[in-house]
Amino acid sequence: MLRAAVLVVSTTAARDASTDAAIPALKDVFATDGYGKWDVVETSIVSDDAASIQKTVSQWTDAVGDDSKLINLVVTTGGTGFAISDVTPEAVSELIEKPAPGLVHGMLAASLKVTPFAVMSRPVAGVRKRTVIVTLPGSPKGAKENLQAIIKMLPHACVLAAGIDSRSLHSGGVRKLEQRAGITGSIACQSHNHGGHGHGHGLVRHAQPAHAPLSSPLSNNLSLGPTRRNRASPYPMLSVDAALACIKEYTPDVIETERPVDQDLVGFVLARDVYAAEDVPAFRASIVDGYAVVVPKHTDEQSASKSSNRTLSGIFPVTSVSHAAPDEAKVLRDGGIARITTGAPLPAGANAVVMVESTVLYSTTEDGQEEKEVEISAADVRDGDNVREVGSDVRKGHLLMQKGERITAVGGEVGLLAAAGVQRVTVYRRPVVGVMSTGNEIVEHTARPPSELRLGEVRDTNRPTLLLAAQEWGFATVDLGIVVDQPQTLEQRLRDAVRQVDVVITTGGVSMGELDLLKPTIERALGGTIHFGRVTMKPGKPTTFATVTVKEPDNVSDNLAVGGHSTRRSVRPIFSLPGNPASALVTFHLFVLPALRKMAGEHPHGLPRVPVVLSHDFVLDRLRPEYHRAVVSVGADGVLQATSTGGQRSSKVGSMRGANALLCMPAGPEPLKAGAKVDALLMSNIRSEL
Ligand code: AMP
Ligand code: MG
Repeated sequence: MLRAAVLVVSTTAARDASTDAAIPALKDVFATDGYGKWDVVETSIVSDDAASIQKTVSQWTDAVGDDSKLINLVVTTGGTGFAISDVTPEAVSELIEKPAPGLVHGMLAASLKVTPFAVMSRPVAGVRKRTVIVTLPGSPKGAKENLQAIIKMLPHACVLAAGIDSRSLHSGGVRKLEQRAGITGSIACQSHNHGGHGHGHGLVRHAQPAHAPLSSPLSNNLSLGPTRRNRASPYPMLSVDAALACIKEYTPDVIETERPVDQDLVGFVLARDVYAAEDVPAFRASIVDGYAVVVPKHTDEQSASKSSNRTLSGIFPVTSVSHAAPDEAKVLRDGGIARITTGAPLPAGANAVVMVESTVLYSTTEDGQEEKEVEISAADVRDGDNVREVGSDVRKGHLLMQKGERITAVGGEVGLLAAAGVQRVTVYRRPVVGVMSTGNEIVEHTARPPSELRLGEVRDTNRPTLLLAAQEWGFATVDLGIVVDQPQTLEQRLRDAVRQVDVVITTGGVSMGELDLLKPTIERALGGTIHFGRVTMKPGKPTTFATVTVKEPDNVSDNLAVGGHSTRRSVRPIFSLPGNPASALVTFHLFVLPALRKMAGEHPHGLPRVPVVLSHDFVLDRLRPEYHRAVVSVGADGVLQATSTGGQRSSKVGSMRGANALLCMPAGPEPLKAGAKVDALLMSNIRSEL
């Protein structure tokens, strides 16, 4: 085990240690990215004061004693900027006996990929006695990213600094050293594996999905032309589950926003608990049409005895009328009763309502137009009968709906909120989705009359299909049009797209042809990161998931950049789906939808999964699991059964028609027989044959 010490240089944290977030963040890096090689044995906090910094660091580096007590690494965090109080690099430099500009370079290079503000950090690194010292920036995020950028190389440096024989360490050559440090050549999305990304920058790429271009991208270099393109995909094949885990990891988190309570609230998920803003009903209201009366209050003894007579009978003068309408407060005068309609406020003094059915008109006013007296004969009338008390439906301040609940169009949530006087709620933003078709052959579907397409032209079906699918799932969409297979045009249109929408979907251009420009353009021109470019599945093998970082104008997510400088950068997922229509729609449901739902705070992210019974034999793909378009219905026996929609070739536009489910078919040499059970992913309501 290597022994590390962490020194926080912060005047604020020195005054109040509870404000420090750097120590936990760095401990976390040692624990999760350190391959179990590190023990953090000392931590300390000092103010921005050179003498205090030097005293603590040198206590750690200069301690004499047995080797098992040697501190191999001291990291400081804070005081590396340009503020007048920032003195850490100067204080530490004076202690350093052997400077290590390579470590400094490694940290800065990694940080610059995250933010141009990295130039504002002034780290130093080196060796004192037998201990390596590194100064990290003060923001926990920046400190973490900088440490992640070098942590794989640090054990080697520390071991040498501690005086181990260097020949034995170097014996296997650089390759062996890299292997030992866990630096491998794979670029596959390794969402559950901290570190282990390709080419050494993986560390930073992991810490921050806002990636910079790889120095060695896997996509084709477009300037080299078709003769030098890859003839086999360089992208590792991911399983569908690995691809989904990757999407989950790199899709941005929910963002809260306030919305008015109105019809447009349907689909939003609450980001905060909602409490009733007022009592419902707001006044004592009648539940029936009848007469508001005064029933004598019974003593407890009387109420307990069944024999007590609660019959209200007699002839009563009608002294007022209470309608369900905004009106002045009515008062029931002595001995009188009030005619009252359902929902009307009870006049003051009344404490029960007798239904009109239990009454008879006894006399009228002289003109015969109004009731003068009414005879009541009602049995068992109690105080409070037919009266809705204030707050008896909803009590002001009570929890109405909880964080995470979704506003539906059928569950009455908007009505509930409206009734309780709630006029604004905090919800999660719903991402706006842009859909773009790509391909020189693709034309607007209305571009030419029937049978008049020119040779090679194909009517655009993916764009309308995906726009509608996204809308059906409750997402606002932007039509990003058709883009030709031309690198500069594609680059410009993608740049515009990521500024305009939260998630970009493209179709076409992800296969192996020389005009398949999506991966190279996203990776090389936009500086995005391709998280995966191939998935083991049918249809949809070339499905590509990437993210690019954009600067936000304002008010959107606010990431703290390296060195504690605040910038507004957001991550935009780009899903480049295959061009074949069936592939595009299947991969939309399988991969894009979970990302959209995650961003909107919906759960579960993916389609609901139910077990179904096959109603006929299904041929399987020998090698790849297939997502078979099917109709799932409830049979007479109540069992869910699945029937294929027919030909499943990925170019077949109609294979999705009428489908309400994707069957998760395993790969295999033999057909799956009728009666076999498989899982179905439901895209819409189950049909009923009952
Ligand atoms: P690509 O992935 O660009 O090689 O396209 C694969 C196939 O899908 C080709 O036959 C394309 O013509 C077809 N295709 C691509 N985009 C669309 C679209 N928007 N609508 C219909 N077919 C398309
Ligand atoms: Mg194409």
